[in-house]
Amino acid sequence: MKIERVVAHPLAARAPKPVSFAIGDYSTFYATLVEVTTDDGLTGVGECIARKAPQVTAAVVDELLAPLLLGRDPRDIAGLWEQMFAQLRRWGHSRGFVLEAMSGVDTALWDLLARGAGEPLYRSLRGAGRDPVACYASKVYLTDIKRMATEAAAMTRRGFRAIKVQIGRTEALGGLRADVESVRAIRESVGPEVAIMLDANGAYDAATAIRLGRQLEPFDITWLEEPVPPDDISGYALVRRGQAVPLAAGESEFGVFGFRDLIERRAVDVLQPEIGRIGGFTAALRLGALAYAYNLRIAPHTGFSAGVAHLATLHLAAAVPNFMTYEYMLPELLSADGYTENPLRDIFTAPFPEPREGALDLPQGPGLGLEVDWKRVGAFEV
Ligand SMILES: [Mg+2]
Repeated sequence: MKIERVVAHPLAARAPKPVSFAIGDYSTFYATLVEVTTDDGLTGVGECIARKAPQVTAAVVDELLAPLLLGRDPRDIAGLWEQMFAQLRRWGHSRGFVLEAMSGVDTALWDLLARGAGEPLYRSLRGAGRDPVACYASKVYLTDIKRMATEAAAMTRRGFRAIKVQIGRTEALGGLRADVESVRAIRESVGPEVAIMLDANGAYDAATAIRLGRQLEPFDITWLEEPVPPDDISGYALVRRGQAVPLAAGESEFGVFGFRDLIERRAVDVLQPEIGRIGGFTAALRLGALAYAYNLRIAPHTGFSAGVAHLATLHLAAAVPNFMTYEYMLPELLSADGYTENPLRDIFTAPFPEPREGALDLPQGPGLGLEVDWKRVGAFEV
């Protein structure tokens, strides 16, 4: 079996209305999908995260990775991973677009392997066989506090036992005081039994995050996500020791080397690998082994990625050790005026799995389990 073709599809899709979160308004969704086809006619699909310029990731796939992959046996996944990584590692490129491009290729290789075996991808991973997978509702976006409390209560009425809430307001939006008030209002509206996670998207410095964490202690918060920017590892370590709310991070990290500092310095409690960034399943499972060794939990990130990454993450969640919960992105996203949507999430010929009682069933078809609707995707190709 040999790889015959590697095709990258850079995508951009404008949402009907922008979503507002700590980094600012988010209105265009991006992704780069990768197809890897073999000489016996099988095709695997993967996704590279792209937050801007998906053409850059596509160029890395086309110019850097595809020449190395063509003619090779797609089943030698770890070997191909190392060779892709080695191309620029010693020139300093062990993060960023190279790892994101590799993530899409690696996911496509695992999809191919599972399709060849005629089994769901999570079974090919030979992991925990977790089905269904526990999930939390993501998320209550920034708007007025009363509205946020109503949104949170509505999620619990839909059966979610865990919800994530956006914080990290700018001073103009009321800053830390409004963040704390919104958490208080939400805890009151959902009651004591619902798990509440908070996501600041790196909005604070360490001192502010410590003040925040101390004020949040009465509200029984499951985790505080990205309290400081992803490159401020010392900041994480300070926040981790300066207050009692557990910390979560990792959606912005690359490869196991990227996570190594966070783990060795005991800077976080919950690891949040993004399958389209960390280096696909190969890297995510290595992180799983590290989480196991260090007694940390894994709650994989999905966020504003396209549907292929959401689906791949579900298979990862079913397989990885020390799994905690899967980020289920509600299809309707709250915006400043009404709801909006991620046009790149539902890009399959069948619907994405729907959660019931806070858990998701794994699709049982071969590979990722759903087929990409390329006609629909074509409309977003740039
Ligand atoms: Mg986040």
